[in-house]
Amino acid sequence: MGSSILSIIYLIGSVTFVLGLKLLSKPDTARKGNLIAAGGMLLAILGTIFLYRVADQPLHNYGWIFTGLLIGTVVGVLSAKKVKMTAMPEMVSMFNGMGGACAALIAVVEFNHLINAITADTTAVAIAAAYVGGKLLIILLSLVIGAVSFAGSVIAWGKLRGKISDFSFNGQHLLNLGVLMLIAGLSVWLITGNIAATTATVVFNSIFLLALFYGVLFVLPIGGADMPVVISLLNSFTGVAAACGGFLYNNPVMLTGGILVGSAGTILTMLMCKAMNRSLKNVLIGSFGSSNRVATAGGKEQGHYKEISLNDAAVVMAYAGKVIIVPGYGLAVAQAQHVCSELESFLEERGVEVKYAIHPVAGRMPGHMNVLLAEADVAYEKLLEMEAANNEFASTDVVLVLGANDVVNPSAKTDPASPIYGMPILEVEQAKAVIVNKRSMKPGYAGIENDLFFQPKTSMLFGDAKKVLQDLLVAIKEA
Ligand code: NDP
Repeated sequence: MGSSILSIIYLIGSVTFVLGLKLLSKPDTARKGNLIAAGGMLLAILGTIFLYRVADQPLHNYGWIFTGLLIGTVVGVLSAKKVKMTAMPEMVSMFNGMGGACAALIAVVEFNHLINAITADTTAVAIAAAYVGGKLLIILLSLVIGAVSFAGSVIAWGKLRGKISDFSFNGQHLLNLGVLMLIAGLSVWLITGNIAATTATVVFNSIFLLALFYGVLFVLPIGGADMPVVISLLNSFTGVAAACGGFLYNNPVMLTGGILVGSAGTILTMLMCKAMNRSLKNVLIGSFGSSNRVATAGGKEQGHYKEISLNDAAVVMAYAGKVIIVPGYGLAVAQAQHVCSELESFLEERGVEVKYAIHPVAGRMPGHMNVLLAEADVAYEKLLEMEAANNEFASTDVVLVLGANDVVNPSAKTDPASPIYGMPILEVEQAKAVIVNKRSMKPGYAGIENDLFFQPKTSMLFGDAKKVLQDLLVAIKEA
C-alpha cells in the first residue's frame, strides 16, 4: 500500500518538474513554475522519508535527517534572500557544487555497501554478480561526474568572486586528457579486473581524488566571462550524476529530475554559446574575458569621444518620437531598473514611444535583463529580442545604452582580431542618436575597447546609472 502511494507521489513529483520547467520558459509564469517544481520536490522528499522501505523496514535516523534538512533549508532561504541579483551566478555555482558533492558522496556510500556485500560472501559468483550487474559502473559514473562538478563549481565560484585568477600553462590540455584517461583506465580495471576488496577500495579512492583534481584543472584556465557558460555545463553534469543516483536507488523521481537538469543544462549551454557565436570548444579552451586579457585594445588610438550634459540628454529624449533603451550589466549593478521603468512611463505620458532591446548575453546570466525589468513591472511586450530590435534601430530617434558595453560593440562585426568577433550585437549605431551611460571609459567584461563610444552619433553621459536616471527624470519633467 505504502509503496503504491510512494509511486503515485513520485509520478506527481516528476510531472511537477516537467510542468515547472515549461512555466519557467516565460518570465511571467517563471515564479509559479519554480514554486510548483519545488512543491513537487518537497512532496517527493517527504514521501521518501516516511514511506520508503528498505527490506520492509521504514527509514530510521530521523533526527539526523531532519537536522540536515533544517540546516539546509535555513542556509538556502537566507542566502537566496540576501543574494544580490549580480551575484546570482556565484550562488547557482555554489548550490550546483553541493549537488555534485551529494552525488559523489552517494557513490562513496554505495561503493562501501557493495564492498561489504562482496566481502561477506566471497564466492566468485557473488563477486561477479556485483561487478557485472552494472551497479559499479553507475556508482563510478556518479562519483566521477559528481566530483568533477563539485570541484569545478567551487573554482567557478572563486573566479566569479575574484578570489581565484585564471591559470594555465603549456601542455595543460594534455595533462587534463592524461588525468581523464587515467580515471577511465582505473575504472575499467575496477569493473573488469575482479580485484580484491582492499585493492578495489584503494583504486576507488584514487579515482575520487583524480576526479576532484580534474574538476579543478578543467575550470582553472577558462576565462572569467565564460564562467556562466561553464556553470551551466557543470549544472548539466550534476543532473547526470543525480540521474545515476536515480538508477542506483531505482528512484524514478530522482531519475526524472536528474535527466531534466542534465538536458536543460546542456541546452542552455548550447544556447549561450550560440548567442556569443562561439563553439563550446572555444569557450572551454579560449580564455575569453580572462583577467590577463583586460584592456587589450586599451592602447589603441580611438580618437575623441563627446560628452552630453544631463539637460541636453533630457531635451533630446523628451522631444524624440521613439526611444529604445539597451540595458546591460551596469544597470543591474546600479539596481536602476525601477527608476528606468519610471523614466519609461514618464516619456510615454509625453507621447514618446519607448521599447527595450534585450541582448541574450547582456548582464551576467541568461535572462538577467528580463528578470531585472520584470522586477520593475516593465511590460513584456516592450522587450524586443535582438533580431527584432536590430530591425527597429534605423527608425529610432534615440538609443539610451544603460550600463551595456560588449553587447553594443561594433568590433564584433568589423574587427576579426577582436575576441568578440562574430558575436551578434545590438546594432545601435543605426539609430539617429546614441546616448551611452556608464561611469567611465573602462571596458566591459570582455576587457576590450568599444568603438561605438567614439562614433560621431554617440554621446557619453557619465555617472552611476541609478543616479543619472533619477536626475534625468527630474530634468525631463522640466524640459
Ligand atoms: P559589460 O560587462 O560588457 O559592460 C558593463 C558596463 O557597465 C561596463 O563597461 C561598466 O562601465 C558599466 N557599469 C558598471 N557599473 C555601472 C553603474 N553603476 N552605472 C553605470 N554603468 C555601470 O556588459 P554587457 O551587459 O554589455 O555584456 C555582458 C558581457 O558578459 C558580455 O561580454 C557577455 O558575453 C558576458 N557574458 C554574459 C553571460 C550571460 O549569460 N548574460 C554569460 C557569459 C558571458 P564603467 O565601469 O565605466 O561604469
